Amino acid sequence: MNAHVLALEPLRALDHRGKPGRAEVEAAVRMIIRWSGDNPDRNGLIETPARVTRALEEAFVGYAQDPSAILQKSFDEIEGYDEMVVLRGVSFESLCEHHMAPILGRAWVAYVPDGRVVGISKLARVVEAYAKRLQIQEKLTAQIANTVDDVLKPRGVGVVIRASHHCMTARGVHKPESDLVTSRMLGCFRDNQQLRQELLGMIA
Ligand SMILES: [Zn+2]
Repeated sequence: MNAHVLALEPLRALDHRGKPGRAEVEAAVRMIIRWSGDNPDRNGLIETPARVTRALEEAFVGYAQDPSAILQKSFDEIEGYDEMVVLRGVSFESLCEHHMAPILGRAWVAYVPDGRVVGISKLARVVEAYAKRLQIQEKLTAQIANTVDDVLKPRGVGVVIRASHHCMTARGVHKPESDLVTSRMLGCFRDNQQLRQELLGMIA
């Protein structure tokens, strides 16, 4: 076994450790309720662990999705179309990876095709696949842009996300009016100031 293989061993061990089942997550929620000082067996709370677990399953559904695969089916009969294509303001819900608090936002996903386009609903599904994970907004923005760039190989990609973070608005520093804007520009969106301004102008 060479050094390279040895270095991979801890990762492989992690993969084999297995994922906890639903019953274990429900038990964990029950424990949180007990820890709060409330009684998980009273009527109002008896179904709560199951409900919270189902909600979390929904919040984490993105881990089971492959965003690159979503974009595989593309169309090349586009009559030389080479202007910007923009999915505007698609809304998403995510959970921040630092507090598991909601991130509620909208994403603008733009690209300039180079011979291939993809169904617009597929772009929305890529946003969803990355949003339904534990996230930070910066990473979410970059992942969406990088995936469109890698799979579609367009002339450029621009992704802008505007979102409010419950960990900022509802707790901690309590800034209910604030939102965070992040962007990632690749290819012609990075090089062409006018194109970038056109996209950013849609968000304001
Ligand atoms: Zn947070």
